Amino acid sequence: MSELLQHFICKTCGTQFPASSQPPAACPICLDQRQYVGFDGQEWTTLAELQQAHTNEIRPLEPGLTGIGTTPPFAIGQRALLVQTPGGNVLWDCISLLDDATIEAVRALGGLSAIAISHPHFYSSMIEWCQAFDAPVYLHADDRRWVMRPDPAVVFWPGEAYPLWDGLTLIRCGGHFPGSTVLHWPGGAAGKGALLSGDTITVVPDRRHVSFMYSYPNLIPLPAITVERIVAAVEPYPFDRIYGGWWERLIPQDGKAAVRRSAERYIRAISAGTE
Ligand SMILES: [Zn+2]
Ligand SMILES: [Zn+2]
Repeated sequence: MSELLQHFICKTCGTQFPASSQPPAACPICLDQRQYVGFDGQEWTTLAELQQAHTNEIRPLEPGLTGIGTTPPFAIGQRALLVQTPGGNVLWDCISLLDDATIEAVRALGGLSAIAISHPHFYSSMIEWCQAFDAPVYLHADDRRWVMRPDPAVVFWPGEAYPLWDGLTLIRCGGHFPGSTVLHWPGGAAGKGALLSGDTITVVPDRRHVSFMYSYPNLIPLPAITVERIVAAVEPYPFDRIYGGWWERLIPQDGKAAVRRSAERYIRAISAGTE
């Protein structure tokens, strides 16, 4: 008799694993010092279980941009962003829950031509999404070792920037992960440009600043040289608005100045003799 194979999902980080009859022994993403194992130890769920207890909210954010986030929140609680351009739609970042209502809503918006994800904490159920919409997943090659469910549809892009279409560009910033990426959307903010930043450049609660960390939950900062490199990576691209990885994390305007002044503040704070 064959055993039931399931794709287990880590309850703390939301990452889905290859099919197995028993849950994996551990989640390498949560054992890494950038994450943590949940308070009750390692726990697992499945997509079918998630579909019982959660739904996705589909929220229009501005012309050409729709947020997709799970209610009640699951794991890290990020929401994905669907960018619509004439050349095709991109899902920026990803979430663990995919259900029929979400598939229908995304199809009504024109489906997906590609999925691109900022970093391993948001890889979530990316292969479920890629199979539902027949869309490749673009991940930075430097984070290849953190892919828990490998699939031929994953495209590992190398180097510093990767153009998609209609001016959409994936930009490697590094810092949080070696391959931590942002998506530049030139059509965002009524043509002034938007940066979809995940937590590569994280929008903080005052919505006027951003921050940069090696680990957010464990509060491990980055050295000045890395922060300077992140700022330099996005400097050539015009943008006014920054969408962080969660619903409320938005800098509506003057985003580029916010990145600059936040980096200066950060470097001052971690430099010796500033007290
Ligand atoms: Zn995990
Ligand atoms: Zn992260």
